[in-house]
Amino acid sequence: VTWIGIDLGGTKVYGVVAQGEKVKADAKRKTPLEGGPAAVVETIVGVIGDLGGTDGIKGVGIGAPGAVEHEGGVVRQAPNLAGWQENNVPLGPLVSKALGGLPVFVENDANAGTLAEHKRGAGRGASNVLGVWVGTGVGGGLILDGQLRRGPTGYAGEIGHTVVARDGRVCGCGRKGHLEAYAGRASMEREARAREAEGPPNMLVELAGDGRMTSKIWAESLDARDPVALELIDNAVSALGVAVADAVTLLDLDLIIIGGGLADRLGPTFVGRIEQAAREQIFAHGSPARVVPAALGDESGALGAALVAAASV
Ligand SMILES: [Zn+2]
Repeated sequence: VTWIGIDLGGTKVYGVVAQGEKVKADAKRKTPLEGGPAAVVETIVGVIGDLGGTDGIKGVGIGAPGAVEHEGGVVRQAPNLAGWQENNVPLGPLVSKALGGLPVFVENDANAGTLAEHKRGAGRGASNVLGVWVGTGVGGGLILDGQLRRGPTGYAGEIGHTVVARDGRVCGCGRKGHLEAYAGRASMEREARAREAEGPPNMLVELAGDGRMTSKIWAESLDARDPVALELIDNAVSALGVAVADAVTLLDLDLIIIGGGLADRLGPTFVGRIEQAAREQIFAHGSPARVVPAALGDESGALGAALVAAASV
């Protein structure tokens, strides 16, 4: 049985054809920066065409950023998609209609990635897993007793919006002191630009200019030991350590998987530092919980979306 999984990201729409838990083909297109949901639907349908169309395909799963209502396939809000200001977009039904009625399922992208890592990546064999996705924002997914936990409103696992600093830095969501405000690339970029505006220049802004401060730029500035980059990444590590420690204490997790564009780029050293920071704060001294890098890279979101479709039909 064959499924299509789509990872709808802020910069690209990446699709895979999955048979069981194996990826048979992949394709990607740029995420449209204008045109709203209609343009995104068109791009998703285009990627599915690039993958060979829907002949023999049983269903499609889409991992979407932001607040997603799995039942009904609705994207409530997608603040990290440029040009998508609309709320409560029925993305699943819209794509299904464009594909002649093929079943389409929508899942939060971090949930999809966590599911993929659990089934065939770094989380195989573990029953209680938290996936933390450090990229533009900070997403999270939660597997409890072997099952993806969505919760009654679909927000379970949203570790990026847990509080790590009371009355702290303002988050992209408008609240204060959330993990994402310290460890999400977009928030760290805002902070780096604010530091430059108030004080001496830093390498991050120098390399990024007016463009996006990519994960590559962060890695280069860290290698060059730029003081602002070092400080902001130290803050990110310590915020992630707090959030992970709290999650382990609250839920008694076996495994925490750290993935996403920025974490992938900064590598095992970054993940090891998060584990160290968490370990110092976990209530159970000598807790066996481990913190490991994600294993599937870019593929996890799309593969996870295909697994969601397979589990939903
Ligand atoms: Zn927030």
